[in-house]
Amino acid sequence: MNRFFKKYGSIIFFLVIVIVLIIIVCFRVVVNNEPPTRVEKKEKALSPLAAKPKSTPLVICIDPGHQQKADLSTEKIGPGSKLEKTKVTGGTTGITSGIPEYKLTLEASMILGEILEEKGFKVVYTRTRNNVNVSNKERAEMANRSKAALFIRLHADGSTNRNVRGFSILTPSGKNPYTKTIYKDSLQASQLIVDEVKKNRNVTVKGISFRDDLSGTNWSQVPAILIEMGFMTNPSEDKNLSNEAYLTHLMEDVARGIADFRESVRRP
Ligand SMILES: [Zn+2]
Repeated sequence: MNRFFKKYGSIIFFLVIVIVLIIIVCFRVVVNNEPPTRVEKKEKALSPLAAKPKSTPLVICIDPGHQQKADLSTEKIGPGSKLEKTKVTGGTTGITSGIPEYKLTLEASMILGEILEEKGFKVVYTRTRNNVNVSNKERAEMANRSKAALFIRLHADGSTNRNVRGFSILTPSGKNPYTKTIYKDSLQASQLIVDEVKKNRNVTVKGISFRDDLSGTNWSQVPAILIEMGFMTNPSEDKNLSNEAYLTHLMEDVARGIADFRESVRRP
């Protein structure tokens, strides 16, 4: 026996070392195959190399209603329509403030656009000046080209009855032949914005109206809504709308509704 060990002892010793090494290597492989712990996962997520590329921001196209000078020539009310309608009407005027609608809508649009950019949206405007001539159809085509997630048209209402007041959103109905593909999302956006504005106690909310006679909506291939911020023919609402704090608060509510819409688009 002693002679056997003298002869083969070093070989057996070498084999034992090799077997032990193989066992150690196998054990490490098994350990490393265990699922990562929460901390390991977090470390991986925090690693700059593991950071995901930033998702591209959603585009919102804002259309400040009207312009300095109306264009009373006509254009088709929708693709393939026989009906024609005025390209850009003059809009209303503040009964006590004297502010024309086109000035108010541009101011509101700029406030809304800034808030939306802070929320991570990309904002495109159909106009940034008052002295332009862009028809309602052309404004919709601008929204289409920008591939906007939402085409939001800002207006203020007018009535011969000074007592009529309230914020409302005009959205295409399910029967509108021009807006079949955008009907559902337009209504969803309208509902989410109305829900947010309703939380503002200073605003009277009339709600949603279905309107199929608006060229600016009918030519749109992206979800399109028209916001009537309030009646400029109602003295107190006109006063409110000409107040920057009121207007900013209202646009913050609208922006929150648009952010809610973004969430609903991402998680249908
Ligand atoms: Zn208007």
